[in-house]
Amino acid sequence: MTNLNCRDCRDFAPIDVVKGVCHITKTTVLGDAEQCGDFSMMPKCKHCSQFTADAETVEMGVCQASTMEPKFFAFPDMVSVTCEYYEQN
Ligand code: SF4
Repeated sequence: MTNLNCRDCRDFAPIDVVKGVCHITKTTVLGDAEQCGDFSMMPKCKHCSQFTADAETVEMGVCQASTMEPKFFAFPDMVSVTCEYYEQN
């Protein structure tokens, strides 16, 4: 999958908005660093078929699985490991 980086990996533990620790190498890495060969994608709303967002303003989207009216906001980087409605694109 393209356009994914270290912050999208299951083995990335964030420290702050810029950097985190890689559980595999045990080193500090930038969240925006390119994915390596051990990359394992973290489920996030942006990878879910229920997530819709304006391509021009992807900072915020909508969850189509929501039963509320209006449907609730979802943001692309929201971790979805516990979401029962997650469906990977
Ligand atoms: S179904 Fe869950 S993972 Fe998918 S967009 Fe909605 S909140 Fe995010």
